[in-house]
Amino acid sequence: MSDVLALYRVQQMELEIIDHTKRIKSITQQMEDDEALRAAETECAKAQEEYDIAEKRAKDMELEIAALVDKRQASESLLYSGEVKNPKELQDLQMELDSLTRRRDVLDDELKRIAAERDEFKQTLNDRETSLTQAKADRSAENKELLEEKEALAATVAEQLTKRKAAVNKIPAEIYKQYNSMRAKNANRPVSVLRDDACTVCGIEQNSMVVTAINRGSDMVNCQSCGRILIKL
Ligand SMILES: [Zn+2]
Repeated sequence: MSDVLALYRVQQMELEIIDHTKRIKSITQQMEDDEALRAAETECAKAQEEYDIAEKRAKDMELEIAALVDKRQASESLLYSGEVKNPKELQDLQMELDSLTRRRDVLDDELKRIAAERDEFKQTLNDRETSLTQAKADRSAENKELLEEKEALAATVAEQLTKRKAAVNKIPAEIYKQYNSMRAKNANRPVSVLRDDACTVCGIEQNSMVVTAINRGSDMVNCQSCGRILIKL
């Protein structure tokens, strides 16, 4: 195998390793970035908070009504106890009873409204909890697939790195050094295939001298335009 072909094969391995490594990085990000799940959690927490407030409001109202019932009962007991004999006091008691009854009606209506509101919040909370459970299940299924892909890729990359190292060791150090120094400025593609007498990376047609040199199998002929090492496959 010519040195240029060996370099070309190393380059192909490196490009694959780069692709796989990019994919691994993107999977890691994807697994960490659980926007949908976070949104479902936020929605759920908000619904829980609204429900808690509505529930407390209903409980407070129930307590207020219970206190009112007690008070009314006490007034009623007093009214019919026979202990109060003064007509003015009896009249006041009766008026208080009437007032408490009216107040109770108002509070009962209010409680009905508050309880209906609370039940609506409860329904919303239930719906959002269902969504959150679903989002978690989706996430976990998705992550399982992603993790499997990531692990398979990591194993492949490890294997490719070993192969690459072995291939690099067979290339004369000076030649590999030259290739390596060209990598950064050539987007990891210092070796370009010559096809129809043109460099396939920059697209420039090569003059007959270059084409002849490559056809002769001379090592290290560079593209006249981009400077890449040309290879004819
Ligand atoms: Zn070129």
